[in-house]
Amino acid sequence: MKYIICRMHLLNKLPGNSRKYNTQTSIFSLNNMAKIFIRYQFLPVFLSLLCFVPLHAQQAKIINQLAAKSKILALTFDACESESPAWFDEGILQYLVNNKIPCTIFLSGKFAIRNEKRLKEISNYPFIEFGNHTYHHYQHSEKLSKTGFMWELHATDSVIKNITGKAPKYFRFPGGNHNAQSLFRVKEAGLQTVHWSFASGDPDPNVTAKAIKDWVLLKAKPGNILIFHINGRGYKTAEILPGLVKSFKKKGFAFKKLSEGL
Ligand SMILES: [Zn+2]
Repeated sequence: MKYIICRMHLLNKLPGNSRKYNTQTSIFSLNNMAKIFIRYQFLPVFLSLLCFVPLHAQQAKIINQLAAKSKILALTFDACESESPAWFDEGILQYLVNNKIPCTIFLSGKFAIRNEKRLKEISNYPFIEFGNHTYHHYQHSEKLSKTGFMWELHATDSVIKNITGKAPKYFRFPGGNHNAQSLFRVKEAGLQTVHWSFASGDPDPNVTAKAIKDWVLLKAKPGNILIFHINGRGYKTAEILPGLVKSFKKKGFAFKKLSEGL
């Protein structure tokens, strides 16, 4: 009897308690849901943004400095060809080869094809490596459609790999012109975007050789990525390069390919 009374007591209590719990303290109650929505109303906005902007796009970066902060410099050259035919600047190339100076040359696909024979020859030197600089060298390659831009990357990779036997790891936008989407696409193609620490100014025909040399010597800091042109548009580069390299070495700097410094 005592058991039956206790049982009834419990049965009477439980539904009420249970209702009270369910309606007032559950985090799923309307009241709490409203509070959560008001408090975290940014969440849906944030989540929908993530749907439209791929996470990788936020992580795709431009490298403009080597990893080490020691006295190392990366010597890089652009070998661009867009409208007019362009050839290797032999003054620069012979200096690099004769002195075994480590460097990275960014080739446009058109330039690589036009200079195929010479490119094949220099690809045998382990101290020279090659990067991708698009196929047509459009000044605003970042504005191409996804298909067009990916073609520029893949076609240039194939041309360089066919001639040199090595697929490029690094990419440089013509004129440095880029946007978040094109940066993401470079990453999607398995390349790293590498620009430069400061412009040398060598494609300006009005700047004197001394001015370029003094500027680069003054501006360069440990870990910097230097940029020059090896397609005939670095008007004074062949003239200043030996003196520049000598001065940097005197200051204790060493030169590395990008793949050795990144
Ligand atoms: Zn270029």
